[in-house]
Amino acid sequence: MHQASPPESFVAAAALVLSEGVPGPPPEHVRIVEVALLDGRVRTLFDGTRGEAVSRYREHGPAALNALLDSQEFRPGSSCAECPYVSACPALRRAPGLLGIETQGRPRRTWSVTNGRNYRICPARDHLRRLHLPTADAIERGSAAERGRAVHAYLAARHGRSVLRPCTADVPDEWVPEGFDLDPGQRTLGARLLRRHAAVCPLRCVRDGTDLRIEPQVVRHDTAADVVVIATPDVLYRDADSWVWRETKTSAGDRPGSGPLLERFPQLALGVVLLARGDLGGQPGRSRVELEVLRPGGADLEIIDPFAPAARSAAEKVLRDLIGGWHRDDYFVATPGADCTRCEVARWCPSALPAEQVAR
Ligand code: SF4
Ligand SMILES: [Zn+2]
Repeated sequence: MHQASPPESFVAAAALVLSEGVPGPPPEHVRIVEVALLDGRVRTLFDGTRGEAVSRYREHGPAALNALLDSQEFRPGSSCAECPYVSACPALRRAPGLLGIETQGRPRRTWSVTNGRNYRICPARDHLRRLHLPTADAIERGSAAERGRAVHAYLAARHGRSVLRPCTADVPDEWVPEGFDLDPGQRTLGARLLRRHAAVCPLRCVRDGTDLRIEPQVVRHDTAADVVVIATPDVLYRDADSWVWRETKTSAGDRPGSGPLLERFPQLALGVVLLARGDLGGQPGRSRVELEVLRPGGADLEIIDPFAPAARSAAEKVLRDLIGGWHRDDYFVATPGADCTRCEVARWCPSALPAEQVAR
């Protein structure tokens, strides 16, 4: 797959460091190459004399550096785990006790529901994914998963338009956003599912742009567990003075899945606990978690009241079960099995079970 080039300012800074910042006599020639971890492909980002390298920096470097030094923006997220200023940070919001676990002396780490799901399948998978190793595209971009991502991207762009208008059933046949690769069957199914969305579009409840957050990153520091929790609900919107957490799923079938919703979709459990604790602000009155399931025959909207004691305690249990083992774990031992054939980091895993052995 073609990867975007790194920013000019990145190449410019590397050019300056190589030209001026190395010990010994300055180099006559500077070359910056990028090597792909996955297949060893090499791309040349810069190749020229020392003088050309310095002028590349002069052209693209100073403005980027100034912007960096002048920035006063806080961006809570995955970097918080290693940041020494966590306890004084005005932007990282605290939510002591959110995860319901309290184990002293554990290193501070980030955690998301995706981490929890990966860990549940295989602790090594979660560990390897956290190393940001290249993942296998064919698995990551399997057709049903790719269709789901394309539908999410379409809705996010549609909801993010400057004029707020609820979606209609008028979805173009060529709806697939750029960068997604769907076969004709998935494309047709996706259009059909998107038409179903009109009946349950969250913009029907929204008055203006301040009521709506599309795929916002919700970051909270559970200081009791010393874990930075990161979640990205599909939509957070305000209904009157209450916040609503909406997740959207797509399904090729018309029958609902079985089993408790909060267990099947633990991100709903996180939404329930955050809303029930008041961590997202707003009034409790109409606060709720919604699961929108788009099916060929229609759209289901499941609603969970975070203030119903049974929902809250079920959600807390789901979170505790998902995070408890991970929080205590120091070894992330691989548990090879049938899931190895669908593991996107198998190529980096020394324990991966080959497909022939899985089939036996
Ligand atoms: S290949 Fe198998 S054992 Fe290795 S990380 Fe993936 S699921 Fe775990
Ligand atoms: Zn909509």
